[in-house]
Amino acid sequence: MAEEKTLSLIYDCHVHTIHSCDAENTPVSACRDARDRGLAGLVFTDHLETRPSDLCYGHFKPADATRDYRLASEETGLRVGYGLEITYCSESANEVKKSIADLSPGFRIGAVHYIGNDLIDEWFKTADSLEPYFAEVLSCASSGLFHCLAHLDYFNKITDRFRDYSAGYRPFLDEIIEALLDTGTLPEVNTSSLRRGLRVTMPGPDFLELFRDSGGRKVYLGSDAHRPGEVGHGLETGLEMIRDLGLSVQGPPEECFGF
Ligand SMILES: [Zn+2]
Ligand SMILES: [Zn+2]
Repeated sequence: MAEEKTLSLIYDCHVHTIHSCDAENTPVSACRDARDRGLAGLVFTDHLETRPSDLCYGHFKPADATRDYRLASEETGLRVGYGLEITYCSESANEVKKSIADLSPGFRIGAVHYIGNDLIDEWFKTADSLEPYFAEVLSCASSGLFHCLAHLDYFNKITDRFRDYSAGYRPFLDEIIEALLDTGTLPEVNTSSLRRGLRVTMPGPDFLELFRDSGGRKVYLGSDAHRPGEVGHGLETGLEMIRDLGLSVQGPPEECFGF
């Protein structure tokens, strides 16, 4: 019961469904998971790929997806928002802008998934510097196109070579934090690392302390669920850490519920 109380005001703000090419959860099953965990609701944030070479390009069909989201909400009684996780590349920022105007998601997560033509999952395996990655993240945060900046230290899921990044890349992080504060973009605390065996969320306290000390107050919280049982996973751990740091969780924007 204590768990239910803890999460009863919290939304999982990062949830994928079969409307993402790499996810297996149906919207109804995602809603049931959220209800079972005692969450206030969730925001569907399926992938929107803006690169024609990407496997997921063209996979998201907004009319089909939003119909399924609505049906899932009706069937389960769960409050559900419509958002997107949008792959951001500095060289195709105009394409991203156009997609946002066409699809009007009420919640927008900006995510750097590529460096040049390489998917970050591959790129981080051999990268010897994070500078190209943080340059893209800075561009994403500065664009002002998004409510939320996705999984800032995603590289920790791929490799342990950059575990001390908050010290080694401090000037880059300071610039990113300044851009976040200037544009009103909030970082997300992504808990998917916890179900992959890591002990900290992405990002964890080291980055979030810098964010707080520069004036940051709020973050979004999401599980990045792709499969049944993953919605809401790790949110209690994330919430506790966020509160211990003196930060708080931002709820989804109201406009994402009116789709
Ligand atoms: Zn992502
Ligand atoms: Zn995601």
